[in-house]
Amino acid sequence: MPDLPFDFIFSQANLQDFLICPRRFYLRYIRRLAWPSAAGGEAFEWERRLTLAQDFHHLAHQKALGIADELLEPFVREHSAELFDWWTQLGRFWQTEQEGILLGKRYSELVLTAALDNARLIAKYDLLVAHPDGRWSIVDWKTTRQKPAPSAIKALIQSRLYPYLLVRAGTSLNEGAAIEPEQVRMVYWFANDPDRPETLFYSRAQFQADEDYLSHLMAEILGRQETEFELTADERACAYCPYRTYCERAFLAPEEYDVETGIELLRLSLPQDWEQVGEIEY
Ligand code: SF4
Repeated sequence: MPDLPFDFIFSQANLQDFLICPRRFYLRYIRRLAWPSAAGGEAFEWERRLTLAQDFHHLAHQKALGIADELLEPFVREHSAELFDWWTQLGRFWQTEQEGILLGKRYSELVLTAALDNARLIAKYDLLVAHPDGRWSIVDWKTTRQKPAPSAIKALIQSRLYPYLLVRAGTSLNEGAAIEPEQVRMVYWFANDPDRPETLFYSRAQFQADEDYLSHLMAEILGRQETEFELTADERACAYCPYRTYCERAFLAPEEYDVETGIELLRLSLPQDWEQVGEIEY
């Protein structure tokens, strides 16, 4: 069994890290090596985009809390044209979806946790909406340059974990009543493709499949010896991985891998403390 901290919690970020590269999981969560900045001018650009993505999430959170646009907008205007464009698109979405995706009680940046087998899972939701008719929408903001293919979105560990945890741990939000999988949908909204959100509908069969999948995945991680966290065979994942020097993986020029894959890999590798702010107990 690997030497994880006693209070280690599985999240979409660390599970996705393991799926992308077991060695990255080992270096980051077992060896607990600092998350160094990646070197190189292109890496700086990726990090700039990550910071922009974080700023956008903070803005969306403040908007969801009811802070007036007039108070937020001067900061956005000063910050960058790209952020201002995302902000403008978010404003449009907010207006048009008042009677749709956003109709109901909203919870912004809410955290849910639940135990599964001998481990614990956690998810931080950008926005949860409890609709008056009993349905729930999980809204997730994405700032990738392009909308990924639906199959890539569906394959994200987030697409399994977030609906699963809402069903498992959302009872306290639902006046003590269970949330049924069929009441849940997940909506990915893309700041750079705002008119084509991706919606995934949940079901009892998918809930059971996700529970099995997450259970097996965590058991696989916890069952490994420390020497068994291998380097990924897909070197595109190493392109801007901050641990590249530990693994003696070569730098890949941008044209040698898919740009959007690179962004998404980094997007999924935000430091965990950004992902886990505040918590409600289950
Ligand atoms: S550099 Fe590559 S092999 Fe090493 S941890 Fe990062 S992704 Fe894994």
